[in-house]
Amino acid sequence: MMDKIHVIDLEFLNTEEAIASFLVETSIGPILIETGPESTFEHLIKGIQQIGYQAKDIQHVLLTHIHFDHAGAAWKFAELGASIYVHPVGLPHLASPEKLWNSAKQIYGEEMDRLWGKMSPIPESQLIAVEHEQNLIFGETQIKALHTPGHASHHIAWKLGNEIFTGDVAGVKIENGPVVPPCPPPDIDIQAWKTSLAIIKAANPQSLYLTHFGVVNDISEHLDALSYILDDWANWIKPFYQENKAQKEVIPLFMDYTQKQLAREGCGKELIQIYEYANPSWMSVAGLYRYWKLKDQGRL
Ligand SMILES: [Zn+2]
Repeated sequence: MMDKIHVIDLEFLNTEEAIASFLVETSIGPILIETGPESTFEHLIKGIQQIGYQAKDIQHVLLTHIHFDHAGAAWKFAELGASIYVHPVGLPHLASPEKLWNSAKQIYGEEMDRLWGKMSPIPESQLIAVEHEQNLIFGETQIKALHTPGHASHHIAWKLGNEIFTGDVAGVKIENGPVVPPCPPPDIDIQAWKTSLAIIKAANPQSLYLTHFGVVNDISEHLDALSYILDDWANWIKPFYQENKAQKEVIPLFMDYTQKQLAREGCGKELIQIYEYANPSWMSVAGLYRYWKLKDQGRL
């Protein structure tokens, strides 16, 4: 049996094609890859219903990593009895999300609810740690975990047949724009990320399913472009980090630099704004500063 894959647009901040969730129909019922944040849970349920299922039909949820825009609504499915599959490093943060929540709260402040919504603990009995290259079996469907750090230390890309659900490790690409790397703190590791891109390439997929956003078929070209722009962004930030320039002064410069790159690739104003929503400049500046700092300290 061929597994049917549905892309659900979560309409994050009423924006199309910013955050996706994926429903896979298997012989034992629907499973979900990515939940999006709790703030878009209603959109997700609407999407699930349009495919012909109810929220409680989802008994297996696979997460690429534990960032809010990917895993924020996982606890809602756990409340309905679902098992949640996650990287072993991410698992404790879903069991007790206070630390995750509080560090995000420091960044987002009063915007927290509007952007991400709430996050409640998931009972450990419903959390399943998945090792590198472990196969999960759902009836006739097999899904293989590929540990793919670089964007986050707790990142998994999920391989189903010839398709790979890449979370954030294969970058962000909206509509016909170029691929760009989301670089939030605290885990960015350029070297590890490139190794992960090689793992994905070696798995020889036919399509990539990007959470931000949708299906990519020109695999080699896509992964090479991402590898190139990763270095480009990291190296652009490096001298500012070295001269200790305040991040808030660098953010507008970085935004200008990357938005000109997008414009050169043919993106209009509106599309550039969606890129900024899906992958904020301030986040990448913070993440790449931290990357260079950890490298300086010999911690990467
Ligand atoms: Zn993301």
